[in-house]
Amino acid sequence: MSETIFSKIIRKEIPADIVYEDDLTLAFRDITPQAPVHILVIPKKPLPQLDAAESDDHALMGHLLLTVKRVAKQVGLENGYRVVINNGPDGGQSVNHLHLHILGGRQMQWPPG
Ligand code: 5GP
Repeated sequence: MSETIFSKIIRKEIPADIVYEDDLTLAFRDITPQAPVHILVIPKKPLPQLDAAESDDHALMGHLLLTVKRVAKQVGLENGYRVVINNGPDGGQSVNHLHLHILGGRQMQWPPG
């Protein structure tokens, strides 16, 4: 896959407000927050999008979701939050490195736009 801005954030070549990191994942605050709390959880493995995940990645996929839960608790989203994965052009994906959005700190609306 081609290099993205998130690869540079993983390598600490550009700054980000990192809230959690382990061997497999990194979580940092979105630069253009859409809610009072807006955090991106990404795999360090450069998967371009959810569609690129294979059966070999099943443990990583589970770890990403458990990381979302961990980070949400860490930042105090006791009253709930939304998790979003935008996949591909129709999904509104703008950075081609898999990322899970955690949105919280306000009442979310449904349906999404
Ligand atoms: P997507 O639209 O692909 O689902 O989400 C990409 C997200 O990455 C957007 O919410 C956007 O604000 C965020 N983003 C893009 N570039 C940067 C950056 O350099 N730093 C941070 N922290 N977030 C970024």
